[in-house]
Amino acid sequence: MDLTIASRVTLSDSVEMPWLGLGVWQTPAGRATRDSVRHALECGYRLIDTATLYGNETDVGVAVRESGVPRKDVFVTTKLWNSDHGFDRALRAFEESDRRLGLGYMDLYLIHWPAPRLRGESWEALVKIKESGRARSIGVSNYTVEHLDELLASSPVPPSVNQVEFHPFLYQRELLEYCRRHRIQLEAYSPLTRGHRLRDPRVVEIAAKNRRTPAQVLIRWGLQHGVVEIPKSQAKERIRENAGVFDFSLSPKDMAALDALTQDLHTAWDPTGAP
Ligand code: NDP
Repeated sequence: MDLTIASRVTLSDSVEMPWLGLGVWQTPAGRATRDSVRHALECGYRLIDTATLYGNETDVGVAVRESGVPRKDVFVTTKLWNSDHGFDRALRAFEESDRRLGLGYMDLYLIHWPAPRLRGESWEALVKIKESGRARSIGVSNYTVEHLDELLASSPVPPSVNQVEFHPFLYQRELLEYCRRHRIQLEAYSPLTRGHRLRDPRVVEIAAKNRRTPAQVLIRWGLQHGVVEIPKSQAKERIRENAGVFDFSLSPKDMAALDALTQDLHTAWDPTGAP
């Protein structure tokens, strides 16, 4: 696997998406978000993952515009929140996110959560948004195999991406294989287990052996499984550290040892069984 920080995966709709991005959940709006996004772009990140829920779309937009990086080179994702489901409401919510970001178009617009009843209508709105060219790609987040089955059966337009929690302690092998079969790119949120397992002795041991940090090992593990990774950090040095994942690789033995850590650990939220 010969990836660099500039590498992109081609989605089923032919849009190219970077393999590594910066997440900004819980990064406070204002200076903190602007600085994180600026540092990430300086380090070579070209994907920024925000959401209406995070309250920092405006600052993501400002930081991207002020960065000097051409708009077309940056891939910006935002998400439709639960209170905005339904056809008309989703269209309106998109308008508002688009205005807050102020970037002219969105690269990826996701349904944040498989909200009951209205998610089908919301998907139709996203399809319309994609057809208008104002979002280059559309997708979903927190969708299980059951939610994806329902969506694929009801719409001729499949999601390009499914963003879910994914790390060695939640190795969602069945979902990964399902998405691969249907050409839906899996994107890992909370790839660092939100910090909860960075001191796990088995991760620490593999990191020491590879002369890397535990965070780098977890990100590299996801990349080697063909998953897009969006670690969050507000610290300049950790944003840089998390990008240092393209000049080493984990051996099949290390990959298998990490795979074996899975224990159904959900650190954000768990959509299993969501109606
Ligand atoms: P992560 O797994 O990325 O972990 C972030 C935590 O790890 C922060 O506390 C951060 O602290 C710390 N950290 C970052 N880098 C390092 C490092 N190198 N060494 C030690 N600690 C480190 O968690 P997130 O939940 O934030 O997930 C990433 C992104 O995924 C989110 O920001 C968001 O964009 C997206 N997401 C999407 C969800 C969805 O439902 N679609 C749900 C959850 C997340 P510090 O900032 O101080 O460095």
